[in-house]
Amino acid sequence: MASAMSLPPWPPAEILEPTRNKFVTVDARDYALRHGLVYRALPAEEGGMPPQDTTIHAPLTLLPTPFPRDLFEKAMDFAPLYNTLYARVATDKDFLSSVLQNSVVHVDDFQRRLYEIWTVAEEEGTTQSTQLALCRSDYLVHMAPQSTGKLRQVEFNTISASFGALCTLASQMHHFLFRKGAYDAMDPLISKANMPKNEALSVLVSGLADAHNCYVKQQREEHRMIKPAILFVVQPEERNTFDQRALEMELLEEHAIPVLRASLDELGTIASLHGVDRILAMQSPISFTPIEISVVYFRAGYSPTDYKSDDAWATRLLLERSHAIKCPSIAMQLAGAKKVQQVLAEPGVLEHYLGKEGDLLRSTFAKLWPMDDSPLGKEGMALLRESPQGFVLKPQREGGSNNIYKDDIIPALDAMEARDKERNAKQGGSGIKEREGYILMSLIRTPENRGSLFMRAGKQTPGSEHATETVSELGVFGTMLYKPGPSKKAPLDMLSSRTGGYLLRTKASESNEGGVAAGFSVIDSPLLF
Ligand code: ADP
Ligand code: MG
Repeated sequence: MASAMSLPPWPPAEILEPTRNKFVTVDARDYALRHGLVYRALPAEEGGMPPQDTTIHAPLTLLPTPFPRDLFEKAMDFAPLYNTLYARVATDKDFLSSVLQNSVVHVDDFQRRLYEIWTVAEEEGTTQSTQLALCRSDYLVHMAPQSTGKLRQVEFNTISASFGALCTLASQMHHFLFRKGAYDAMDPLISKANMPKNEALSVLVSGLADAHNCYVKQQREEHRMIKPAILFVVQPEERNTFDQRALEMELLEEHAIPVLRASLDELGTIASLHGVDRILAMQSPISFTPIEISVVYFRAGYSPTDYKSDDAWATRLLLERSHAIKCPSIAMQLAGAKKVQQVLAEPGVLEHYLGKEGDLLRSTFAKLWPMDDSPLGKEGMALLRESPQGFVLKPQREGGSNNIYKDDIIPALDAMEARDKERNAKQGGSGIKEREGYILMSLIRTPENRGSLFMRAGKQTPGSEHATETVSELGVFGTMLYKPGPSKKAPLDMLSSRTGGYLLRTKASESNEGGVAAGFSVIDSPLLF
């Protein structure tokens, strides 16, 4: 294993040579188009619907990016433990409510509405205690002064964790280019042994199949209307459709499980509950007869913009109350809140859930602080005022572009305080502090002098874009099918836990944000060294 210090310059000079660069880009582009490594094309105007009959290739790197082998293996090894941790958190009602009720629920309307659905569904009592989650734990490499790289978790995604299919295809594309000789006579680091196989697509599909099969086993034959299907809840304006379609097609082809797709708005008129068990049915788009839904897989519902009206919220509640297995349940979505991530980093919390093994996961945590008036919150604030350059401030949001970095943090907090004063004066002093809806995180210092070659669609002349300073974020996928255990001593019943499969995204260092869909990162694959 080479050390970070002995890593060759990246990308190798040979692939920058214009003739080779053009040739390889054309091969890579056509591989992507041929295999569905694509997005829908951009809408004609901002905010409009993307054209439904046109695709462009996803943003990609032309060659894999070096990533430390030991840290890659660590991230993969820790994935089963992260599954257990989050399944424990999502089934621990007391913990979730104590973390969220007195903080983000007060100041964040979106979290409050999710929390209300959870409370209403809990009070009514569930008819489906089994839950599914398809998760992704995201990491950066942190270069602490005078030390080798360390693995640092950015966040744990519990809803709509995407790119399982596209990153599998991106790995396959790099393998194809390797076999075709695109990287010949370059750095010896580029070898098959250093390009790990990516199982993300099959892991995620197997997770969905686990839940469907579990549901079918639970049902009594006479109660079944028609062969049940999995429902994908999707955004109408989605451009990353083919990442979802790949899951759908693999479910049908490999597991004989049909999939239906609908938006929250559409479900408002075509979804209904039946019988004492509240079986979820959806009108078939072909025969208009009801189809029983086994699993509701959310690829929407993580952002306030997904709820365009109160009707959409009512539909989310209906889905949550149903007998279908939810992926994720509202509880698991709440468990993925950044506030929960911050509380898990407080002393003793991980250990409560995982015992000694908690230390393993703690070794991947960056420093985190609440933005409240607790001693820890005050410590964070003092450190922030001393050197804002070392921090990122995060709200309880998913999907990118929401974080506040470095010198922007203090002015943002000042503006929040001004709004608090105005609101409190109007409402007679409710004492709500907007900043309590945020967490503070130390910035991860990624390795320097790493470049990459990006391929983005829409270029008139083939050839890739040389980014000289880049950052790569590793995500590790996991699926878990679980239900609350029978007693306090056995609080969790893990029915199936799968891991394996990863996403590597690379972005230019100037960009603070990491979302591929948000247009910052490109899909990559690791070259282990
Ligand atoms: P989101 O839910 O919007 O994806 P993240 O917590 O993943 O929010 O942050 C978005 C991006 O911001 C990440 O992909 C990463 O590039 C960057 N980022 C987040 N936290 C840190 C951190 N502590 N240090 C450095 N970069 C970070
Ligand atoms: Mg993220």
